Amino acid sequence: MVVSPWGLESRNTRSIVAGMPEFPNESVAMIETTLNNVDRVLERLRVGTYRTCQVCDAPIDEVDLVASPLLASCPAHPELG
Ligand SMILES: [Zn+2]
Repeated sequence: MVVSPWGLESRNTRSIVAGMPEFPNESVAMIETTLNNVDRVLERLRVGTYRTCQVCDAPIDEVDLVASPLLASCPAHPELG
């Protein structure tokens, strides 16, 4: 088991969320998606690419990140945002 410096156990999101039987499957899927996105964002923070568009490497505007901290792309590539 790998524990990141951020205290998240990267590969165990599914088992943690799926272990909550009161959650319907579609809720579990949505929670997992968000948590996995958070995991990816934390990794980008760690390696220094948090403010960089994942498509074209353009800097992502600070105002946009404040509004959407999970944003992964610039306005020209909204498909990842
Ligand atoms: Zn871009």
